[in-house]
Amino acid sequence: MSKTIIISNRLPLQINIDGDDLEVTPSVGGLATGLKSFHRDGDSIWIGWTGLTEEEIPENLKNDVKEKARTEACVSVNLTAEEIEGFYYGFSNRTIWPLFHYFMEYTEADKAHWETYKSVNEKYAREVLKHYKEGDQIWVHDYQLLLVPNLIRKEAPEAIIGFFNHIPFPSYEVFRTLPWREEVLEGVLGADLIGFHTYDYERHFLSSVSRILRLQVDFNEITLPERIVKVDSFPMGIDYEKFEKAAINHFENTAEEQSDLQRRLDHHMEATPGAKLILSIDRLDYTKGIANRIRAFEYFLDNNPEFIEKVRLVMLAVPSRSNVPQYQRLKREIDELVGRINGKFSTVNWTPIWYFYRSMPFENLIDLYTSCDVALLTPIRDGMNLVAKEFIATRIKQTGVLILSEMAGAAHEMNEALIINPNNFEQISEALQQAIAMPEEEQVQRNKMLQKRLKRYSVEKWAQDFMSTLQGTRDNRDAFKSTRISSKVSDEIMQAFDRSKKRILFLDYDGTLVNFTDKPEHAKPDTELIELVKKLNSNQHTDVVLISGRDKNTLGTWWEESQVELISEHGVWMRKQNKEWELSENVKNDWMETVRPVIENFVDRTPGTFIEEKNYSLAWHYRKADPELGEIRANELSSVLKELISNHGLSVLEGNKVLEIKSSGVNKGKAANKKLVGNNYDFIFAIGDDWTDEYMFRELPEDAFTVKVGIKKTSAQYYVEDTKRVRDILNLFAEKI
Ligand code: UDP
Repeated sequence: MSKTIIISNRLPLQINIDGDDLEVTPSVGGLATGLKSFHRDGDSIWIGWTGLTEEEIPENLKNDVKEKARTEACVSVNLTAEEIEGFYYGFSNRTIWPLFHYFMEYTEADKAHWETYKSVNEKYAREVLKHYKEGDQIWVHDYQLLLVPNLIRKEAPEAIIGFFNHIPFPSYEVFRTLPWREEVLEGVLGADLIGFHTYDYERHFLSSVSRILRLQVDFNEITLPERIVKVDSFPMGIDYEKFEKAAINHFENTAEEQSDLQRRLDHHMEATPGAKLILSIDRLDYTKGIANRIRAFEYFLDNNPEFIEKVRLVMLAVPSRSNVPQYQRLKREIDELVGRINGKFSTVNWTPIWYFYRSMPFENLIDLYTSCDVALLTPIRDGMNLVAKEFIATRIKQTGVLILSEMAGAAHEMNEALIINPNNFEQISEALQQAIAMPEEEQVQRNKMLQKRLKRYSVEKWAQDFMSTLQGTRDNRDAFKSTRISSKVSDEIMQAFDRSKKRILFLDYDGTLVNFTDKPEHAKPDTELIELVKKLNSNQHTDVVLISGRDKNTLGTWWEESQVELISEHGVWMRKQNKEWELSENVKNDWMETVRPVIENFVDRTPGTFIEEKNYSLAWHYRKADPELGEIRANELSSVLKELISNHGLSVLEGNKVLEIKSSGVNKGKAANKKLVGNNYDFIFAIGDDWTDEYMFRELPEDAFTVKVGIKKTSAQYYVEDTKRVRDILNLFAEKI
């Protein structure tokens, strides 16, 4: 039976060691809850780090830790203190975290940290591979494990792999500054499905992939030579019921059952009737905008002194990553700010900020969520922000106001909150006034809608959605109707080749025999290729035809010596062995004078594009243009040209990052078929990579072997992944000769 393998930096476990005693408790975080139905109830394992370094676990307890983890269906990845330093505190939290949150000034580029990050990612991948069986589905989580998908893919090419990034993905302009940007993108692209919280992160990722790796991106799909990767957004929800139930129970507590914190909160409310409590909860992280929030609160009190003694900011900051210097500095800054503002505004009965620097048990979080009137969450950047969702879920009377930064992923789904720019103090101050004055009716109206949505798209639904989309990528693989040339298929083709008496091979050039280069003139055939084609052509039972879109002079010069038969410009010219070029169709070029200036205008407006002038066609290349701009301009040019050339016997061909205008009566299909007339070939083989080759695939007889290079929709019967595989096949033919 197939199983699910979940991989995250940390296991959903808390391990405490006290002397020789070992206590393991399952943690109850959002991810653990969301994956509960896949993890505990289903057949699944979770792979991750226990939270204790190798050095922290006494030798005699090492096995126990492993065993205890196993009882929770967990497998531990063992990491040393040095590995944690380089991998977790180092590359994850001093490079990726700040960069992905747009804190470029905090982003370090330390080669040693990167090396440790790579080796620890390999450790995780190795552990996965130990447990992986064909048919299993793998779900990798978050920015600490960006390289894991591809590390698994290399060893298990058929695996179904999902990756979810829980933090933002920055704009290409920011991401491109990372020295190891290619490796990171390639690492993630090992997955079949890549998930983000919001569409913005998704499009930033896609833009980086197309600009940095120059891969083909169509809407939300990335075409790799051998696979398609789907990218989508899945806004993570919370365990709504858990928070709702906890809030209901909270209100049913008797006086004795109440926590100390609740008593203090009640005491405050009784002492100052009508006063409002404003709540903020976050990890002490520079992305959370805590200092901004305190300064904005100061601005609010400065400008609205009537609220002195009438509002209080209850601020819970949870200690986090205190080994990283920026976090230590931030701690000092917040301590000082709170001290200064409390000093500035406090009265005998009142301090404006209650500041807690610690983590609180769940029960106390519920006390805070349910007792405060306003939640003020002002991150500068935040992948999602679950606190915003939890606050709303606990408002069982549907009162309360959420003020939320537009920079949090959650803001996209929580439009009914008061959305603010965390850098605009005036706006925050106005939002506070609006929140304090908001009529109950309006509060209820807003929260009702928020609750409805949060309840529906819970963390469980989020996980199900991701997993079913991941399953769907299996179908994506089958969507290519053509058959991959596996070794079995290759054997069949070779047998047919062997049996045949008269063969013809139609070989496209660019993208088939050679890879694309920045400039067409750089894609000269290498000696190995020339020798290979010569060998194939030397056999009297085998005709080789190079059939290309190239102009006859280039093709003729490059293949001068080989004496192979050439068809250039998609069939305009033909050069038989040892013969002169012949114009094979009655084609004209008098239209060029009219069309050229139109294309030139597009060249001027689209940097990186150029015109290739052939005898009977004009081609506009946009491979080196900005990918998005290139596609937009190609669409535009295509429609302008179609209008211009209608009724002139011309057509616009859309090739691989090229538009070509030529006579309609000319295409590779017609040219190839002309070669077949009067020759009774019993083995016809045609291979090509782009749109112009589709004419061949469609028009050649049914028993021809037609092969597409790359994974794209095609009329060809078969496909191969790349030009290397093309050479492999041609070499097999050559061996038979
Ligand atoms: N939280 C907690 N203990 C605390 C304070 C907060 O467990 O003392 C939880 C809170 O309930 C929320 C999470 O920490 O689920 C914070 O998630 P969020 O997305 O807001 O921020 P992150 O820390 O992931 O950046």
